[in-house]
Amino acid sequence: MTAVSICKKCILTSGTPGITFDRNGICNYCLKYIPMKVEGEAKLAAILERFRNGKGKYDCMVCVSGGRDSTYTLWKVAHDYKMKVLAVNYKNPFTSGQARENIQRSVRTLKVDFYDWEFPNDAHRIATAKALKAWSHHPSSALIPIVCMHCKTIWPTLYRIARDYGIPLIVVGTNPLETASFKRSGMGGARYYHKLSFLPRLIGKSVGELIKNPRYLTKCSWAMILKMYLCAGHNSPYLRWRFKDIEVVRLFDYLRWNEKEVMTTITDNLGWQKSAEVQSPWRFDCRLDYIRRLMYEATVGVTELRDLFSKMIREGMISRDEALVRIEAEDKISEAIAGSVLSDMGMKMADLNLDKH
Ligand SMILES: [Zn+2]
Repeated sequence: MTAVSICKKCILTSGTPGITFDRNGICNYCLKYIPMKVEGEAKLAAILERFRNGKGKYDCMVCVSGGRDSTYTLWKVAHDYKMKVLAVNYKNPFTSGQARENIQRSVRTLKVDFYDWEFPNDAHRIATAKALKAWSHHPSSALIPIVCMHCKTIWPTLYRIARDYGIPLIVVGTNPLETASFKRSGMGGARYYHKLSFLPRLIGKSVGELIKNPRYLTKCSWAMILKMYLCAGHNSPYLRWRFKDIEVVRLFDYLRWNEKEVMTTITDNLGWQKSAEVQSPWRFDCRLDYIRRLMYEATVGVTELRDLFSKMIREGMISRDEALVRIEAEDKISEAIAGSVLSDMGMKMADLNLDKH
């Protein structure tokens, strides 16, 4: 039998967790793919209308990161739908300079009020360095998300900001194609965007991995890890229970996400730019993502960008040939750039132990 190295339809490789190929060389992820569905613009307009001109100063809050999808969401809600918006940004210490510029230019151009906040005492950066060090002793793909635990615990604060300002609606620009399908295999994550991660399996798997690497127990905050599992995502059952009075709408549940349309709109109207330090216009807003890519590459041999392109092929958004060219260029992170992210935490590439896996 000849080993299939890459799916004939998408660009997932044979190293992808849980992958199998049929006799035509098509992978199971392609064969079982459920196409993206959207609710339609009319429904979105009706929801926004319901919140327009409420009692408070703002009709809604939009969460912005300086990346392309949240910038587009801000444009749509503030410009096209003319909602009174409070733009809110979590000041992630790994935010790229370009992302900050994108945020500032967007809120200025759209004349929307802006609010940002951060965890005190450099807690995010310090905890990330500890999590990376713990991870490097026993690299496990299942525990890569722990590196991002602060960002996974921002939702309680976002809800609180909304409540403090009397804002009943939060609009987010999560990309529906972003839920990496390969994470479900062996990691317990959600394969499909519209399905929640299977929490007991996710926690079971993670606890197993945590026990294998006791450094997490001693070096990282258990309260934070627990909070991460309870509050990851705006629709976690715990948060829905605590903040019943606030509705969250995902723009791309209603409007079909379209890379070209997103990029053209924000570039032309808001002067949005990607960071010059990487080729990909996706996820440069947090520079820690560069390191995550290297971690996924080393442990599962496939990155989230490869998964995203594979979904875009299945959706008919790009050709396989185009994806193959783009992945070559866009998935590369230079050692110098990765090194500079790590040096902000007093670390260097060798500390990650990536070559050993
Ligand atoms: Zn495939």
